[in-house]
Amino acid sequence: MQQVILGRTGISVSRLVYGTLPMGPLQAALSPEEGGRLIRHALEQGITMLDTAELYGSYPHIRAGVEGYRGQLTIVSKTHAPDAATARSHVERGLRELGRERIDIVHCHAARVADPFVDRSEVIEALLKMRDEGKIGHVGLSTHYISAVRKAARHPEIEVVHPLINRTGMGIIDGTAEEMSAAISDCAASGTGIYAMKALAGGNLISSARESIGYVLGLPGVHAVALGMLSTEEIEANVRLFSTGGIDPDVWQQLESRTRHLRIMERFCKGCGQCVPACVNGALSLVNDKATVDEGVCVLCGYCGAACPEFIIRVV
Ligand code: SF4
Ligand code: SF4
Repeated sequence: MQQVILGRTGISVSRLVYGTLPMGPLQAALSPEEGGRLIRHALEQGITMLDTAELYGSYPHIRAGVEGYRGQLTIVSKTHAPDAATARSHVERGLRELGRERIDIVHCHAARVADPFVDRSEVIEALLKMRDEGKIGHVGLSTHYISAVRKAARHPEIEVVHPLINRTGMGIIDGTAEEMSAAISDCAASGTGIYAMKALAGGNLISSARESIGYVLGLPGVHAVALGMLSTEEIEANVRLFSTGGIDPDVWQQLESRTRHLRIMERFCKGCGQCVPACVNGALSLVNDKATVDEGVCVLCGYCGAACPEFIIRVV
């Protein structure tokens, strides 16, 4: 597996980063043992960076996967805290649940915050303080905004940016895929480490996974790409794709034709209804102020995912 230096952090990481959101309770709800086995398999295949977040519920899976592991490892987490005290408690919990003395990178998880340098300034300050205390290695920013990527390039204290990018631009809040990729390129040129998220748009681009991953891997300035993976076959196929560009057509055909469902993370649904008119098939409605899908009508086109401001609709 090819290693790259993640900007001015100086950390060497695998180009394929293991995203642990899908294995956690918000999506596939694997047990910590099942998730841990997949994580360990990935580490043994040469993946060296694991991506998680306070919200993902995957700390137990990671802890199980890295237990006794002595190889190269970088763990990244994120805090969605609105204030400094909550940010500190999130990091402390991460340290406790992961069983570590330091988390290598912690992002201000500001996916849908237009200007985290204004709206989450005290969170960023708290993270920098914890970096100085040795509890965090480097401070980063995860975002769906092009403007935030551009602003991060002018903030050298933010050493890593985790931006949303995919070939359709699905989920980018303030512009197109081309505009986000230009911002990423400029941000990386300033010395910031970049690893991309949502190359498959939360599962919506799974039927063109190889093409979609290739698009993001080929963008200037993208050092690495985080992907959620739920089987050893998927891990091995992606490791091979990232390492050599090689594919086993039978395996990929199977991966790209998996049975899929529309998943709405009900817990985070605000009941705003913006997804309902986005579905031209009439598959969505609000029931008790929560979006609900009629699976008999849904054609899994994924258009509703782009309309949801909370980004909580996925094809999985
Ligand atoms: S995936 Fe397509 S068909 Fe299904 S609910 Fe969303 S917009 Fe409608
Ligand atoms: S757009 Fe998102 S938050 Fe709004 S009702 Fe639909 S699923 Fe819920």
